[in-house]
Amino acid sequence: MSTPTTELEALLMQRPLSDAQLQAAAETAPDFRILPDAVVIKIGGQSVIDRGRAAVHPLVDEIVAARKHQPLLIGTGAGTRARHLYSIAAGLGLPAGLLSQLGASVADQNAAMLGQLLARHGISAVDRAGLSAVPLFLAQVHGVVFSGMPPYGLWIRPPAEGVIPPYRTDAGCFLVAEHFGCKAMIYVKDEDGLYDANPKTTTKPNFIPRITVAEMKAKGLQDSILEFPVLDLMAAARHVRQVQVINGLVPGNLTRALAGEHVGTLISAD
Ligand code: ADP
Ligand code: MG
Repeated sequence: MSTPTTELEALLMQRPLSDAQLQAAAETAPDFRILPDAVVIKIGGQSVIDRGRAAVHPLVDEIVAARKHQPLLIGTGAGTRARHLYSIAAGLGLPAGLLSQLGASVADQNAAMLGQLLARHGISAVDRAGLSAVPLFLAQVHGVVFSGMPPYGLWIRPPAEGVIPPYRTDAGCFLVAEHFGCKAMIYVKDEDGLYDANPKTTTKPNFIPRITVAEMKAKGLQDSILEFPVLDLMAAARHVRQVQVINGLVPGNLTRALAGEHVGTLISAD
């Protein structure tokens, strides 16, 4: 049963906003997903877009075909250019907020490029994914491209150590999926999924098809294939309690994942 507004209102007037009873009362409204049929996919920056034509064109074809079956919100990563900018800015002693802005500019560049590649199919890049015309695009052409970096800019919460912004495009895309209560969140990268060690620097690592957030942390893999804050965002999520990481360099993987197949690694909160 939902709390009558008057009771919630009374609590809001009297209690600190962090009060437990107030929090519980604010939570009682029925669950509501804003875009329940949409799927968010993140096209990796370093892992996919930086590889250029060979990696990106086949994915464009899969996106164009797959969006017939469900609306797609297509977020972009940043990648190597962002890492270059981070190294210069950090070397100049500049803070995380500025690095966050620099990273966003690269994710923007990738969204601009992907938007142009998809333009002839009617799919546009939007400046911000924060709704505006997004539902219209999804209803009309079943797809929209957005820049994956969360727009915290100078207001990003600085990391405990160093100046690399902790919330980057993995987190930005996850937050879009969670905000809209989307059906699924799929990360398109360049490895078959999660391994027990980085496959780029380890010979014969073991593949992990399915894992929970707690198991990932217990194995020390919290900062591996996904930005580490994503695990905590997922653990606290109402809607998106699972994400999928797939290898976008393998033709057909994205199509299969969008059809609900278990390709790659499933990481779940529970
Ligand atoms: P994006 O392009 O989306 O930013 P990243 O390059 O940040 O993607 O993340 C994918 C990379 O994560 C892989 O290319 C891989 O080298 C690395 N990685 C590190 N640890 C692991 C692991 N345990 N399993 C799989 N990949 C890992
Ligand atoms: Mg990354």
